[in-house]
Amino acid sequence: MDIESLPLRDDLVGEEPYGAPQIVVPTVLNVNENPYPPSEAVAREMAEAVVAAATTLNRYPDREATALRQDLAAYLGHGLSVDNIWVANGSNEIMLHLLTAFGGPGRTVLTFAPTYSMYPEYARNTLTKFVAYPRREDFSVDAGLVLGAIDIHEPTVILLARPNNPTGTGIPLEAIDQICRQTEAIVVVDEAYQEFSAEPSAISLLDQHPRLVVSRTMSKAFALAGGRVGYMAADPAIVDACRIVRLPYHLSAQTQAVARVALRHADELLAKVAELAAEARAFEDWARGRGYDVVPSQANFSLFGRFRDRHAVWQGLLDRGVLIRETGPDGYLRASAGTPEEMQALKDALDDMNPEKES
Ligand SMILES: *Cc1c(COP(=O)(O)O)cnc(C)c1O
Repeated sequence: MDIESLPLRDDLVGEEPYGAPQIVVPTVLNVNENPYPPSEAVAREMAEAVVAAATTLNRYPDREATALRQDLAAYLGHGLSVDNIWVANGSNEIMLHLLTAFGGPGRTVLTFAPTYSMYPEYARNTLTKFVAYPRREDFSVDAGLVLGAIDIHEPTVILLARPNNPTGTGIPLEAIDQICRQTEAIVVVDEAYQEFSAEPSAISLLDQHPRLVVSRTMSKAFALAGGRVGYMAADPAIVDACRIVRLPYHLSAQTQAVARVALRHADELLAKVAELAAEARAFEDWARGRGYDVVPSQANFSLFGRFRDRHAVWQGLLDRGVLIRETGPDGYLRASAGTPEEMQALKDALDDMNPEKES
């Protein structure tokens, strides 16, 4: 049987499942993961926590993930409590909950392109109209740009990636403050890469703006992509809205147990964050020195180009054992920060290819 013969929703006909290619090569720099796995000691503690959870797997897990949410509140600080925190299977699920609760038919979600390629998918899946308003030429967004776009499109939800993926561009805290002051929309600040940035988190603004949501993840800096844990901090009423739309028992007992161990070892798991940001900045300096155009980044990845044929460059790197990401504006490629050895492999492969650039 093929998919065309099924009564698939009209708007899903011809769609492809989202995701970067999962290819086994020596150097994997394509999905912005932390290249350093948990230590043996932390891995063992996670295994023990899973064993303990397994003794009660006949029962459903804590539907409210209360203990984990308490730990996340303590980790974030800023006087947040369990009622301010929601947690799910990756921040992707957090944002799906938000759009399920606040989007839907007849409503609009507004974001600023180029940005995270999953945003249109949450909108599509929740039947929310998706508007990707262009960023400034240098990929920045400012309060004027956002407020102008709000006037035109009247969104109920605004998604602002900070730092942005795939450009690495930040948004000053004052701009977030000014936007929140002047809109009734739910403003979701996606801080998936916050730990790598020198800008303060928008969490400090939650007190003043009850419709502000700060989304975070354990997939990037926290070195727990495989654990699938994302979370948000917001007013308790917004958490309650997410609780209405979540599937019951959405977060497994094993996931909750592993995440709690990871949080107990936050210092260790986050130990490489500064080094990884420095690797990305060093790669950018190197790339500028070689005549590439590099977009200033505040995250653990770099967007560089511009290539006459970026697909050929992506493929050439892959042929040399280096997997990066073909994404973002025309002519650019994105590479995640890796270990020093991985960054050397990337630079060697680029030098070996010496790809044609556009001026
Ligand atoms: C990686 C990423 C996420 C995180 O996804 P998870 O579901 O938490 O793994 C969220 N937002 C952006 C912009 C990202 O790049």
